[in-house]
Amino acid sequence: AIQLIGVSKWYGGFQALKGLDLTVAEGERVVVCGPSGSGKSTMIRCINQLERHQKGDIRIHGRALCGEPKQDAPVLRETGMVFQSFNLFPHMTVLENCTFALTWVKQMPQAEAEGIAMAHLERVRIPEQARKYPLQLSGGQQQRVAIARALCMAPRIMLFDEPTSALDPEMIKEVLDVMVELAGTGMTMVVVTHEMGFARTVANRVVFMDQGEIVEQAAPEVFFSAPRYDRTRLFLSQIL
Ligand code: ATP
Ligand code: MG
Repeated sequence: AIQLIGVSKWYGGFQALKGLDLTVAEGERVVVCGPSGSGKSTMIRCINQLERHQKGDIRIHGRALCGEPKQDAPVLRETGMVFQSFNLFPHMTVLENCTFALTWVKQMPQAEAEGIAMAHLERVRIPEQARKYPLQLSGGQQQRVAIARALCMAPRIMLFDEPTSALDPEMIKEVLDVMVELAGTGMTMVVVTHEMGFARTVANRVVFMDQGEIVEQAAPEVFFSAPRYDRTRLFLSQIL
């Protein structure tokens, strides 16, 4: 589970997050949406400490992150992240991208790591690409590698920051299909996306952010049919 309690973050003098309160229960799937610059990426990057918040608490499985990499590492290792721009290591093969953290961080023997990596590459339906380099793959394939790579570390939480927004339309579905399947396994997921079809079918809850605040959150059927605030209605009218 993830808990944000009064989380604020500033970039210099600019306050990007304004006292966020959010709880994501074990196995819950939360979709985060909102206009550009509303703080969605900042929030998700604070959850896995790619950015440090200055006020409030972030608790993962009940343990508050303290900002000390050594102390936070065990918790953060159980949190996988998938970025809009894939962020694969270009000089490593697909298989090496997937085994790297297993052999270096978890000190796993190479053969065992490759076994795990291949299992996850099969799960995202690209085992035949294992020996290629990222730039030899399509965007949709690269993103599925990124998902497989994150899953190799056996995370309990998966964070996604606009995983399909850099993809051509025909590749969006192959990535969303993998995410839908993952949701079916009971994975705790926080997904920043404007794929509202995905939100409707997969999310337990949709969170709407604007100007560094969580404006409202509701189950998708309520969120889409009866948003409470004008800001939410305006946003929905622009994207639906
Ligand atoms: P988008 O939909 O465009 O991805 P977002 O909701 O993810 O937007 P963030 O990237 O979290 O928004 O940015 C929130 C605010 O913080 C924006 O005003 C942005 O300009 C600012 N910001 C983000 N990163 C930095 C940074 N490293 N330094 C300074 N300001 C930043
Ligand atoms: Mg963003």
